[in-house]
Amino acid sequence: MEIRGKPLRPLIDPQSIQKRVHKLAGEILDAFGNTEELYVVGILKGAFIFTADLVRAMNIPVVVDFLQVSSYGQSMESSGKIRIMKDIEIDIAGKKVLLIDDILDTGLTISEIYRFLKSKGPSELKSCVFIEKEGRRKTDFEADFVGFKTLNYFLVGYGLDWGELGRNLPGIYAVEGS
Ligand code: 5GP
Ligand code: MG
Repeated sequence: MEIRGKPLRPLIDPQSIQKRVHKLAGEILDAFGNTEELYVVGILKGAFIFTADLVRAMNIPVVVDFLQVSSYGQSMESSGKIRIMKDIEIDIAGKKVLLIDDILDTGLTISEIYRFLKSKGPSELKSCVFIEKEGRRKTDFEADFVGFKTLNYFLVGYGLDWGELGRNLPGIYAVEGS
């Protein structure tokens, strides 16, 4: 498998992902104390597939919305300053909310998003990331739920892109040489 001539190395296969996602959904519902309904906020675009799989593994009424942000500046590394490109449309005040992102790297982006959602007054706000990169944190942010942990490779597939390609791959791949 390759994208624009760059080889991709398989890291997590689709069956392992589905198995983990189903287990994770159970852990999340338990942690919310078997709530009657859950509000889910996925971060576009990277978390769209993870969010879709996770909510389909939840056997309770779920309200789904998406938030899109962009980092200020042009640098490859996250700056921690976010701009809201698309806000959520649902009212989460007084609701039990799960924030879903694709990757926890430095933690700068998700900690800002967490603060932003918190200011909307949910009764409970927990966070879930599909992948946590080990040893990369620049904040003390900890996700409440983590799908998988990896080393610091550049990852594509399962919603994650490399120059907007690769999101449709059903597994996770490391871009060779990253
Ligand atoms: P952080 O603020 O934690 O450094 O940035 C995390 C964000 O950077 C993720 O939500 C994701 O959009 C992007 N990101 C970090 N690592 C990767 C990676 O390996 N592959 C892709 N496609 N995006 C990544
Ligand atoms: Mg992202």
